[in-house]
This record gives sequence, structure tokens and C-alpha cells, in this order.
Amino acid sequence: MAPPSHLRRTKIVCTIGPASWDSATLHKLGESGMNVARLNFSHGTRKDHQQIIDRIADYNQKHDMQIATMLDTKGAEIRTGDVQDPIAIHKDQEVVFSSTATSEKLDGKTVIEVSYDDFAKDVIETDTILIDNGELSFDIVSVEHDGSVIARAREDGSIGTRRHINLPGADIDLPSITESDWEDIRFGAEQNLDFLALSFIRSAEEVQQVRAMLDELNSTSKIISKIETQKGVKNIKAIIDVSDAIMVARGDLGADLPFEDLPAVQDEIVCRCKDAGKPVIIATHMLESMKEHPVPTRAEVTDTAHAVATGVDATMLSGETASGKHPLVALNAMVRIHLATEDHLARLEKAYEIRFKDSEEEEMDSAISLALEQEADAFIVITETGRTARHMSKFRPEIPVIALTKNRVIQRSLLLHYGVYPLCVDFDTSDDVTMKLGVQKALELGLIAKGHTIVLLKDRANRMEIETI
Ligand code: PEP
Repeated sequence: MAPPSHLRRTKIVCTIGPASWDSATLHKLGESGMNVARLNFSHGTRKDHQQIIDRIADYNQKHDMQIATMLDTKGAEIRTGDVQDPIAIHKDQEVVFSSTATSEKLDGKTVIEVSYDDFAKDVIETDTILIDNGELSFDIVSVEHDGSVIARAREDGSIGTRRHINLPGADIDLPSITESDWEDIRFGAEQNLDFLALSFIRSAEEVQQVRAMLDELNSTSKIISKIETQKGVKNIKAIIDVSDAIMVARGDLGADLPFEDLPAVQDEIVCRCKDAGKPVIIATHMLESMKEHPVPTRAEVTDTAHAVATGVDATMLSGETASGKHPLVALNAMVRIHLATEDHLARLEKAYEIRFKDSEEEEMDSAISLALEQEADAFIVITETGRTARHMSKFRPEIPVIALTKNRVIQRSLLLHYGVYPLCVDFDTSDDVTMKLGVQKALELGLIAKGHTIVLLKDRANRMEIETI
């Protein structure tokens, strides 16, 4: 049974917006487990945010369990221009991205206005333009002398007013902290907000500049650096050192990196923050579908649970609480996931220990250890029934287990097992000959290569040989 909700250890940041900024909803969010209210300065005026700050101050006056406040700067964003109606885009259509064009068409091509004069200069560091974190993407065709950029749509879509543009991997020449961010930071410090989250932080120096300003203002506000670019990831160690906390801002980060790299980068940042003793927040798309639906997808539940299981300090809700249909239900879902996962973690070590069932399994585990000591590149095992390969797989070998069988049914039955590469070969009366056939086939299929050190398990796993092929 999960512990009572006030004993939840992993904290929750809720972004406040039109769906949640009224007093009643803010109070309910606070009473339901919101630890930190995030004010996103990419939207709204300082006057709008001031009203929310006042409402939270009112809540805090009435409650012992407080809500902390976080100002999140807009940062150096590139956006498309204002349009009356969304522009429809078709797959393979060529369009012109331009910061100067005044007409809607150029050489017969639709013009997409961009908010950044040096767009053409930075665009050459990438080959892709992403709209709304990849909802729509373009291949760059050419960069023209007049600074316009011709790009071809990869899919159908549409571009509405002031949509977010990412140039994956490009080091944008804009300062991470813009003029208006500096004014917002000053505002946040003067309002004694608890946290100032700085968008697009790429170096420790940028954080130090903000720190100098806060020191001058005698501010107690803590600095959260948002990591959302490859450059920020590259400089992560130095950024952690000078920041009070880190946010893994997966919306922009997931667009700047190949998306398959995001989980590893997230986990690495979490490890580094834990090692440095600095709080780390995982943000964006945690329960995204709850903007529309009252229940999260299974994948969202698992993603949020993963963040909790890796020991993050906080997870964040964005559109779910700012503009979604079910802000309180989304918060409640996150609370439930945190509690259930924390409870599960407390029991995990005991329940999930991998134990030996018999001496055969123990032998396979020793064989794996020995192979790793010898820095072997692969195992090759002869298996009549698949049993030896299954035993090896159980202990999650770090090198491939090439399982030789003479039977297609056994071969396919092993396809589900971790780290096992089953091959079908004719068995000889001598295991040495069978092994030679297996090595040959594995070489042909590129599972091993000349020069590799291979551990061969023969005679029903009773004979182990090490060989360099
Ligand atoms: C993000 O990109 O994931 C993020 C949190 O920043 P923002 O919402 O300001 O784009």
C-alpha cells in the first residue's frame, strides 16, 4: 500500500496558466500536492503573473504546507510570425523561411516569417527545421544570398501564429538571456520568487551573470538552469557547479538531440545532479495526453515512474495544468504515480533480486563472469533445447550469446530472449565441427568479426574454450 500522500518524497512542479490561475483552482492544486507553481514567462504579461503571485501569497498565508514560486524565462526562442489563419503545408512542398520578406509568396513559394535576423547564418549548422518540437519538419534545400532559406516539408501539417522553431544541433547566435529576460529576472528577484528558471542555458558564464545580478539585488531567489540544447549538455558539469538546480527541459532538448538519445542524456544529467547534491527536475510531456483526456497513457505513467525510480527531485506538469482540460486530475495522477513508485522502490531490492534456481544457472553465471574477465567479444553455445542460452540470458550477459541449434522452432523460440542470437546449423557428431560451422555463419552475418575473442561452450556446456578467430 502506498504511503499517505503528504509523505510523497518526489516533488511536483505545476505550470500555471488559464486552466489553473483562478484562486479556487490554485488553492485546490496546492491542497492536492503542488509543491512549486511555475509561471511561464513565454506567455502572458508581468501584470498577469503578478496576480498569480498574489494569489499564491494568499494561499501561503493560510497554509503551513507552502507553495514555492518559479519564474521561467522565455529565453532565446525563434518563432514563426503572426498569421491570420494557419498555413497549410503539404508533404514535399517547398517553402521560404525569411525574416525580411513582406509578401505571402516568393517565386511562387509560400513564405514562413521567422523572428530572427540571423536565421540563414545559423541554419547552415543543421539540415533540418522543426516546427513545434517536430510536429512538422523540413529538409533544408538551399540558403539564398538574400538570407532566405528554402526548405522542403517532410510531411503534411500546418503552421499557426508564433510557432516554436528548432534548428537541431545548431548553436544559435542569440544570447540565451535576452533583454526582456533580464527585465523578467529582475522582476522575479524583486518579487522574492523562490526559483528563477533560465531557459536555453548553454554555459556556466551565463548563470554567473545572473548570479551577479541577484547578488547585487540581495536576492534569495535560487537559479534553475534549463538544459535544452546540445551545447548545454556538453557543458553540463560546469553548469551544475554554478547552478542551484537543473531542469531537464525535454521539449526543446528532445528536438535539439536525436530523440533516441534523450533517455540516456536525461539519466546522465540526473546522475550528475545527484552526485553534486543539486536538485533536478524532469519536465515536459510527462502526462501530455491528459491535456485532453482524464487518464494518462500507459507510456506516460511508465515515463513518470522511470523519473521517480531514478531518484529525481521533481517532475513537472506543463500544458496539463496550464491549459489542459483536467488540471486537477492530471496533478492527482502524478501524485498517484509518485506514491506507487516510491512504495515499489522501497520493496524493489528484495523482490527483484535475480537468484539461482539450480547449479546449471550458477555455472552459466560463472561462465559469463569468466568471459568478461577475459574481455571476450561473444559466447557461442550449442543448445539442443535452448536451455543453455536461456540460462545465460537470465543473467543479462554484456556480450552476445550466439546460440547454435539444429531446429528452426527452437531458433525462433529464442528470439524473445535478451542478448541471444539464435542460429540454425547442421549438428555434427563432434561439437568442434558444429562450432566451426557456427563461427562461420556468425562471421557471415556480422555477429562476430575476425580478431574477436570468442568463448565456446561445448559438450553440453561442460567444456569451455577461449579462442581468437
Ligand atoms: C521545455 O522545452 O521542455 C521547457 C520546459 O521549456 P519551455 O516550456 O519554456 O519551452
